[in-house]
Amino acid sequence: MVERLGGDVMKVVEYDFAILGGGCIGSAIFSRLSQSVLQRVALIDKGRKTLSATAHSGGMLRVFHESPEYVNLALENHQLIQALQNSGVLTEKNEVTGSLYFFNKNRYKDYQASLKRMAEAEYPFEVLSPANGRRRFPAFHWLEHECAIYEPLGSQRTPARFVQDLISSGSENGGDVFEDLEVTRISCHHGFYRIFSDELTMKSKTLVLAGGARLLPRFQDLGLNLPLQTKELSAFVVPKVPNAPAMPHYFDRETLDFGGFGQKDHAVLASPKSKRLVEPFWQGTAEKRKALDCYAPGRVGLLGEVAGWPGLYIATGWGGTGFKFALEVAERTVNLLTRSQTERSVSNDIL
Ligand SMILES: Cc1cc2nc3c(=O)[nH]c(=O)nc-3n(C[C@H](O)[C@H](O)[C@H](O)COP(=O)(O)OP(=O)(O)OC[C@H]3O[C@@H](n4cnc5c(N)ncnc54)[C@H](O)[C@@H]3O)c2cc1C
Repeated sequence: MVERLGGDVMKVVEYDFAILGGGCIGSAIFSRLSQSVLQRVALIDKGRKTLSATAHSGGMLRVFHESPEYVNLALENHQLIQALQNSGVLTEKNEVTGSLYFFNKNRYKDYQASLKRMAEAEYPFEVLSPANGRRRFPAFHWLEHECAIYEPLGSQRTPARFVQDLISSGSENGGDVFEDLEVTRISCHHGFYRIFSDELTMKSKTLVLAGGARLLPRFQDLGLNLPLQTKELSAFVVPKVPNAPAMPHYFDRETLDFGGFGQKDHAVLASPKSKRLVEPFWQGTAEKRKALDCYAPGRVGLLGEVAGWPGLYIATGWGGTGFKFALEVAERTVNLLTRSQTERSVSNDIL
């Protein structure tokens, strides 16, 4: 279809669903949506391999987090990962090394509701005292005033491969992928969202904004003023020493130090000077990776249809933690999208 826009003749491609952003969240929505609807679905992205938060993410997966809602998201996500692994959509071997979450003992009461939720879901975990921790995991330093939650099912994935697998599955199911297309403007006319780039223009009745931190300037096109912020996060990638043992990945709630050792020949660390391990088993030159991530207040994320904008959906804001929720965020988004499609066709039939 060709339309005249502002005096120029420009190609306009029409979709039922357009997803803007091909990081872990957008690609998961694309894969899931392409499976479940017989409609035209497009994924639009520029920079997933270089600019996205996902590309630079440590890819660490665990369940425990600061609130029962996070626990629910991560537990559901865990099940979806297993299902996609079993069905062959995710092609990377799931390296289960466990995870350790260190925190000051004084916080224990704050975590009880989350731990209760994990126990109810029969998700295995243990709270380790320093004495127990030293015995079980002597490679880590354990301070007297802290304890740690150990999750034996904690694991680590390569985020770039995760995204590639999801995009491939969506495109095998008939979805269209527009890579290297920088969206320069978004507008809404007569119930259609128009998505402009230098090469082409798309229109879609439904638009999902899943572009993470880099997409925030485009919200201004629509006059959206949502409580979202960007922050730069970084990690170091360091070669592991030969024959390094498999280790749980860890996060320190007090210092925000973290380390992941499951990915093949390298470790991912908050700092190569980390003192958490008794004997560091990484060596050589550390490569710093950094990216912007998108934060909603309290990092609880924004997910759903934007008030006053029929057909405009958003899924972002789990700053620093979004990778571990991506599949479940996609599941919830697609449930909303397909439900409102049905509601819209019912109301059209009545009209
Ligand atoms: C260093 C680091 C380590 C992390 N470690 C972990 C971890 O171990 N575990 C965990 O759970 N989380 C971790 N996170 C957080 C997690 O990676 C992010 O929350 C998550 O990847 C965000 O995914 P997203 O799909 O929302 O956004 P992104 O991954 O940023 O993807 C958005 C995509 O949309 C594209 N886009 C935006 N605007 C446009 C436009 N106008 N036109 C075209 N394309 C556009 C972007 O370029 C990008 O490709 C880490 C993050 C960082 C940076």
